[in-house]
Amino acid sequence: MRWEEQRVDGRFELPLGLPEPERGSGRAGLALPEPKPIEAGTDGAFAIEIQAKSIINRVPGESQVPFRWTVNPYRGCTHACVYCFARRTHTYLDLDSGRDFDSKIVVKVNAPALLRKELASPRWDGEPVAMGTNTDPYQRAEGRYRLMPEIIAALRDRANPFSILTKGTLILRDLDLIAQAAQRTRVSVATSIGSVDEALWREVEPGTPSPLRRLDVVRRLAEAGTGCSVLMAPILPGLSDSPEQIDATVGAIAEAGAVSVTPIVLHLRSGAREWFHEWLSARRPDLLPLYERLYRNGAYTPKSYQRQVVDLVEQAKERHGLVRPQRSEHRLDPQSDATPDRIRQLTLL
Ligand code: SF4
Repeated sequence: MRWEEQRVDGRFELPLGLPEPERGSGRAGLALPEPKPIEAGTDGAFAIEIQAKSIINRVPGESQVPFRWTVNPYRGCTHACVYCFARRTHTYLDLDSGRDFDSKIVVKVNAPALLRKELASPRWDGEPVAMGTNTDPYQRAEGRYRLMPEIIAALRDRANPFSILTKGTLILRDLDLIAQAAQRTRVSVATSIGSVDEALWREVEPGTPSPLRRLDVVRRLAEAGTGCSVLMAPILPGLSDSPEQIDATVGAIAEAGAVSVTPIVLHLRSGAREWFHEWLSARRPDLLPLYERLYRNGAYTPKSYQRQVVDLVEQAKERHGLVRPQRSEHRLDPQSDATPDRIRQLTLL
């Protein structure tokens, strides 16, 4: 694995004040690896603790996403979504984009301290920082490592705008901190709920909290006044794109009090494409011809199909009273307006 020389496995001190039972109990099902090089494709689920060299990362120039800077305290994600677009990033570490991505989690244990240092640098000009754009900051390991409270506190103390996108209900632990930050700067929180179909959730997002629990996050953030947007993502052709399924999902999101709903149809770039294809072949081979047709030109479905899905979502939003986004006062929400251009941007995430 790349970054072998940055490993500090086992020498990371948990934040002071963490109750003893949590300090003593494993790493969210992840073991500490042996002190020898991590090989790709091997068995075992590991928390690979490293000292990162930098933490605020610039989005590559050619990317069309609506933010320029990201912070990702973890690499890999035990949420293990079969369609995850970030899978390819594990290959940059010489690990594989399939099972290794789900089970060999790189933990940047110095992320909070490094962030404070970089935010204080005269070279940093306080631009918005996006989190959850690559791997989920509230995946299970965060319960053990507790990097996010310190990260949010660092951003709050510098009044630096930020956004968080997560499927993790653990974000509720940090609700007070997020509310404090929102008093000082622009803060945006979003979760993604592609469908409320529980059977489908178990198949395609096996490591995530259920859609119902994510709806509860939306509800709690609405009650707290912070507000929560929902990326209805990904909408899966043949699996969650029927008018009835879309109506049920939009209805549940509206009922939970979401600020906005933005639909995103599944895109399949290299890394995710192979892994998803393997899952589809095993679980829904009847859908292979549909996917071959829709993705024959690359990572994205034809515009006509995307428009059809967006129209269904828009109609459902109208039925459920979610036509106009209600914006809260302290809101940076680069992900809320479902205009065609915005959808195009988000499909690139
Ligand atoms: S939660 Fe996000 S980052 Fe994690 S596996 Fe799922 S899609 Fe990927």
